Amino acid sequence: MSTKITVSLICATCGQSDFDHNEDKSWVRCINCDREYPGGIDELAELNQANIQDAVNEYGDSLVNDFAKKIESKFKKNKYIKFKRR
Ligand SMILES: [Zn+2]
Repeated sequence: MSTKITVSLICATCGQSDFDHNEDKSWVRCINCDREYPGGIDELAELNQANIQDAVNEYGDSLVNDFAKKIESKFKKNKYIKFKRR
């Protein structure tokens, strides 16, 4: 299983994900609507924080679930240990 989380950054103005940028991504421009991000990739990432958080949450949930299943099967016969899952 890969541990890499991929989040595509989208333009805060038009929602497209095609960007023009300089070499170190300290300046980014949306190809679709021409919006410039003078703060570069950092500024874009900040505006996309909700998307990034969603991706991390999703990934986190699947990990928690796998873990819970393993533990559950291990303690299946133990009536004193009960597991609750969302
Ligand atoms: Zn745009």
